[in-house]
Amino acid sequence: MSALKSVKGTYDLLPKDKAVHRHVSETARSVAERFGFNEAVTPIFELSEVFSRTLGETSDVVTKEMFSFETKGGDKITLRPEGTAGICRSFISNGLQQEVPVKHFYYGPMFRYERPQKGRQRQFHQVGIELIGVETPQADVEVIAAGYQFLKELGFADDVTLELNSLGDRESRAAYREKLVAYFSQFEDQLSEDSKNRLKTNPLRILDSKDEGDKVLVKDAPVLGECLNEASQAFYTAVKEGLDLLGVPYVENPRLVRGLDYYCHTAFEFTTTTLGAQGTVLAGGRYDDLIKMMGGPQMPGVGWASGVERLALMMGEGSVDLPRPIVVIPVSGDQQVEAMKLAHQLRCEGYIIDQGYSGNMKKRLNRANKANACAAILMGEDELARGCVTVRDLESGEQSEVSLDDLVTSLAKFK
Ligand code: ATP
Ligand code: MG
Repeated sequence: MSALKSVKGTYDLLPKDKAVHRHVSETARSVAERFGFNEAVTPIFELSEVFSRTLGETSDVVTKEMFSFETKGGDKITLRPEGTAGICRSFISNGLQQEVPVKHFYYGPMFRYERPQKGRQRQFHQVGIELIGVETPQADVEVIAAGYQFLKELGFADDVTLELNSLGDRESRAAYREKLVAYFSQFEDQLSEDSKNRLKTNPLRILDSKDEGDKVLVKDAPVLGECLNEASQAFYTAVKEGLDLLGVPYVENPRLVRGLDYYCHTAFEFTTTTLGAQGTVLAGGRYDDLIKMMGGPQMPGVGWASGVERLALMMGEGSVDLPRPIVVIPVSGDQQVEAMKLAHQLRCEGYIIDQGYSGNMKKRLNRANKANACAAILMGEDELARGCVTVRDLESGEQSEVSLDDLVTSLAKFK
């Protein structure tokens, strides 16, 4: 019988890798909380419309990448490819407009049917924040500053670049769209098939094309900045001034557009050159029309999402230690029962305790080293008779006899 396999593009996070992964998500959570964002959890699947109506019928995610299926009851369901749409759906479902500003943090798996490669899986994880209900640039500044602080606390302040652009308001984008169509129409026969379609449906998306031929044409395309009306310019200026004020460094990238349809005004990405082609580690922007598009009230929002696997890759394998246990070792089989009892007692006192299940003392000490144990409690017959055990510091090699009555307090330094 052939062994069962995992699904293409998925992978298992074993404890060593999960420790790095968790460091990334916990750092995000901790920073988010300090900025006033608390965790919300929405389902990992939603009615397909939650995504198809909002991310853009022509976006890569909707046209190619969704994992969709029909339930027995006939509902069309999609495994979420991103977090913002679900948070906004939840904002509407729970009537949260009474509570704005709403500040949510989220963490969880996302699903996209993409070609698997380094830093690109079919199931991956994102952390993200959403600030809903504030229309002033102060919100954009706060959200971006939180993203920067998160990457900084992971140690990546010098490895990432914040790229910033403004997509302007609807009027500015309409003016830009006309200019873009005029420009790309001259080269229509040179565009990729995808971009020929985009020219009709959503020309802005051509700017985000990964096709090499398209990229050459994009280089000389008009930029959005030329079309920003006064209000959009003022908004953009305020965002930049706010970032300057908080010491968040950025470079302006007038060609930055995001892959999803719902963005306006601020668009930003933190990129790195250390991950090859998969260089974006955190990305977001403002989405003032999204909640309305979903049938909710007109409600501004701004947020970002970040790929946990990509950041874990940057951290490197083994960069975060698993918790270090104390091992309890019976010197001979006769102390096995006492050892089991002591292990249990110490676990109840809050210590991380490992116990070998079999083997002589040498074998158990070897195992303790493998588990990166910080200390060993050796339980010998004579000592036990005196109500004592030996505590060995596995870092320094020092050891001392400790009475069982004092054990819990004397282990405190290993906690
Ligand atoms: P890319 O251009 O790399 O496809 P994207 O624009 O599709 O990224 P977003 O939708 O903005 O990405 O998602 C935010 C972040 O989630 C990305 O910057 C990236 O770090 C991560 N991410 C997106 N897709 C994947 C994936 N398939 N596997 C792993 N991480 C991903
Ligand atoms: Mg993508």
